[in-house]
Amino acid sequence: MFDKDLESIFKKAIEGPKIFKNKSVLFHDYIPTKLLFRESEIRKLAYLISNLLKGYRSSNLFIYGKPGTGKTAVTKYVVKKFLDTVHAYGKKINYSYVNCRLAGTEYRIVYNIANDMGLNIPFTGLSTEEAFNRVLNKVRDDGLPFLLVLDEIDSLVTRYGDKLLYLLTRFNVDERQIPYMIIGISNNLMFKEYLDPRVLSSLSEDEMVFKPYKSNELEEIIKDRVRFAFYEGVVEDEAIKMVAALSGAEHGDARKAIDLIRVAGELAEISGDAKVTTDHVKKAYSNIGKERVIDTITTLPLHSRIILVSVFDLLRNGYNIVKASVLYTKYSDLSKKIIGSSLSYRRFIGLITELSILGILKRSIKNLGRKGGRSSYVSLDIPTELLIEALSNDPVLNELLH
Ligand code: ADP
Ligand code: MG
Repeated sequence: MFDKDLESIFKKAIEGPKIFKNKSVLFHDYIPTKLLFRESEIRKLAYLISNLLKGYRSSNLFIYGKPGTGKTAVTKYVVKKFLDTVHAYGKKINYSYVNCRLAGTEYRIVYNIANDMGLNIPFTGLSTEEAFNRVLNKVRDDGLPFLLVLDEIDSLVTRYGDKLLYLLTRFNVDERQIPYMIIGISNNLMFKEYLDPRVLSSLSEDEMVFKPYKSNELEEIIKDRVRFAFYEGVVEDEAIKMVAALSGAEHGDARKAIDLIRVAGELAEISGDAKVTTDHVKKAYSNIGKERVIDTITTLPLHSRIILVSVFDLLRNGYNIVKASVLYTKYSDLSKKIIGSSLSYRRFIGLITELSILGILKRSIKNLGRKGGRSSYVSLDIPTELLIEALSNDPVLNELLH
């Protein structure tokens, strides 16, 4: 029976209906050749970056916008065109792009910058500041224009504070002779509140806000991508409309829309259907939500996962909301038990903020009467079963769930 199943999977792959023409255009790292509805952002960014070629520094830029609004795609698109031109003229620049969330730690961010510039620094053993000084020296010695993109910079700040960004402001003082530009990209619109005013004024000389896409814009974006990804006529118009409506109603998130059409296509493929229909989209929609949450939780830093176990532990005693200070005590105890140390309250609140931006926790402020002041509360923003499922694969934490 089992063998037959396998056989039919492979047979279907050869004989069954063909769904995807080029699936890679639906993956996250694909940079589209055409970006719709972002012309003015593209122009402004191109203009600012082009200053580097004129031999003077450009304003540093902060780009804000909710996830899936095209910040990364637009930046990478413009930078790619910029670099193509730079190389075509036989010119050189120092360029580095780092995704701060994926890099993980402050040191790894600096390590990646150094790497992009062809500078070898040890993988461990230096302080972040020492490593940063080496990058600074390299920039100075090379004397080339320097373009640095720090993507998902909000994750750096909520996790580690703004120490590294503070070091970066030293470019202002030190590197007057060298054209440089720092672009920071944030998914969190409130991000600025976490920055020291000096860091803010130096890194946010210019700003751009990317607005969520409307349903009709998402429909165009999806249609355009579907043409490359699927064989002609495979995806029904109604299915595209439904993807746009579902993603538009939520956060105007183009990434979710593209994921949705990809998973709908995969479901059609698995069941051997010739067309991608609204039924596939509906099913994909419920599958994705769950997967995304589990994925997000599994890749969180350890301290955030310890916070989640603490929330779980406090809430299973019958409460559905817990005071932030009570949660902090619980977290500290647990963290000390597990890794021998815990984070400061400030850093803890940073992680709580990140978790609430990710939609895993909910934070609320309550006024405690006229004299009582304000108190911060935390609750779970996802079903408890999902949290258990996500943490049950964790070798250290899963035991604490029982
Ligand atoms: P952000 O960085 O704001 O979270 P991304 O730039 O990663 O969002 O975009 C999410 C996905 O949507 C990517 O696959 C990207 O190619 C696609 N996308 C975003 N904006 C557009 C657009 N204007 N036109 C075409 N595709 C887009
Ligand atoms: Mg991005």
